[in-house]
Amino acid sequence: MKILVLNCGSSSVKYQLFDMEDESVLAKGLVERIGIDGSVLTHRPAGKEKLVRETEIPDHKVAIRLCLEALTDPDYGVIKDYSEIGAIGHRIVHGGTFPHSVLVDPSTKKAIGELEVLAPLHNGPALRGIEACEAILPGTPQVTAFDTAFHQGMPDYAYTYSLPYELCQKHLIRRYGAHGTSHQYVALRAAALVGKPLEELKVITCHLGNGSSITAIKNAKSYDTSMGFTPLAGLTMGTRCGDIDPAIVPFLMEKEGYTPAEMDQVMNRRSGVLGVSGISSDFRDIEAAMADGNDRARLAWEVFVHSAKKYIGAYAALLNGLDILVFTAGLGENSISAREAICRDMDFLGIKIDVEKNQVRGQEREITAAGARVRTFVIPTNEELMIARDTLSLVQA
Ligand code: ADP
Repeated sequence: MKILVLNCGSSSVKYQLFDMEDESVLAKGLVERIGIDGSVLTHRPAGKEKLVRETEIPDHKVAIRLCLEALTDPDYGVIKDYSEIGAIGHRIVHGGTFPHSVLVDPSTKKAIGELEVLAPLHNGPALRGIEACEAILPGTPQVTAFDTAFHQGMPDYAYTYSLPYELCQKHLIRRYGAHGTSHQYVALRAAALVGKPLEELKVITCHLGNGSSITAIKNAKSYDTSMGFTPLAGLTMGTRCGDIDPAIVPFLMEKEGYTPAEMDQVMNRRSGVLGVSGISSDFRDIEAAMADGNDRARLAWEVFVHSAKKYIGAYAALLNGLDILVFTAGLGENSISAREAICRDMDFLGIKIDVEKNQVRGQEREITAAGARVRTFVIPTNEELMIARDTLSLVQA
C-alpha cells in the first residue's frame, strides 16, 4: 500500500509518500508560505530532479491539491493516479489524552478541534488538512498520529503538576509532553540495534533541535518527559526558555507591563540560546561565535548543555539505571560538540562516548567508548515512517 504522510503547520505542509511494501520513500516535499506572498512548493521525487513551483497558495486545500498534482505529474510524479494512495496519515501536535493513533471519524475531528485551545498554532491547520483531504480524496482512509500519544504512558505522579487539583482538572492542565513519535521511533530503533525488546531496557532519548525534549523510557513506555503542558517546558531551546522559576512570569509582567500574549512571546520567541547569546537561535551560529571568543555565546551554550545534563541525570535516577542513551533531531544528529559536551564527565553514570566514533553527522551509529556500561547511539529520527506504519496497521485492521 502507498501511504501519504502529511504534516500541516500554520503556513506550511510537509509531505512524504511511502511505498509500504519496502517502506521506501517515493517522494517528499514541502509547501511553504501558505496564505502569504511568495508561496512555493518544492517536490523531491526519488531518483528524479526536484520540482519547484511558485504560485499563489491561499490555503491548505490548495496546498494539498498542489502536492497531489506534483505526485501525479507526468515528469516529476511517482504515481499515475490519486487512487494509488491507499491511506493518509496526519501528524497532530496535540492529541490531549489520546493514547495512540486513530482512524479519522467525526468524533476524532471534534476532539482535535476542541484541543485547539492547547495548541492554537498547530491543531487548526491539521484539521484543515484533514478536511482538505476529505474533499479532494473522498473515501480514502485517514489516520491521525499524535505527538503527545507516546507520553500517555506516564504514571499520574509524572504528569500531575502540584497546583490546586480542581484547577488542573477544570483547565486540562497536566504534563502532555511532545516529540512522542520521535522518542518512540528512536527508542524502538535502539532496542533493535542492541537486539533486545524495548520492554527490557532503560532508555533516555534526547530529541535536540530547535525545540528540544528528553524522555525517560521504561517498559517501552514514556515514564517522564521534559516538555510539559506545552512545548515551552524543559531544556533551554533555540528561542524557548525551558524551565524557569514560575514566579519570574508575574514579576516580569508587572515590571515591564507585558500582557499575557506579550509574556508568551518573550518566553517562546525571545529566550533560549537566542535570548542569552543575543546572537542566534541556531546552534551552528552559537558554536561559530563561541570559537571567535564571544562570551555570551559561550554562556548560552553552557546553559543549554547544563540543562540537558540535568535531565539525563534526573532520568537515570528515576529509571534506577540506564542501558541506552540516544541522540536525535537536528542538533542531536549533527552536532559533534553538543554530544561531546553533554556526555562529558558522566562516566559515574556509565556514560562515556568514543571521540572518533562521535565524528558523525546525520547517520545512525553507536558512539559508545570501549568498556562503557551505557550504550550511546546517534539515530536519525523518522517520525513520518512511524506515522506511515501506524496508518498502515490501523487501515489493515
Ligand atoms: P525543529 O525543532 O525545528 O524540527 P531540527 O530538529 O531541524 O529543528 O533542528 C534544527 C537545529 O539543529 C538548528 O537550529 C541547529 O541549531 C541544529 N543543527 C542542525 N545542523 C547542525 C550542525 N551541523 N551542527 C550544529 N547544529 C546543527
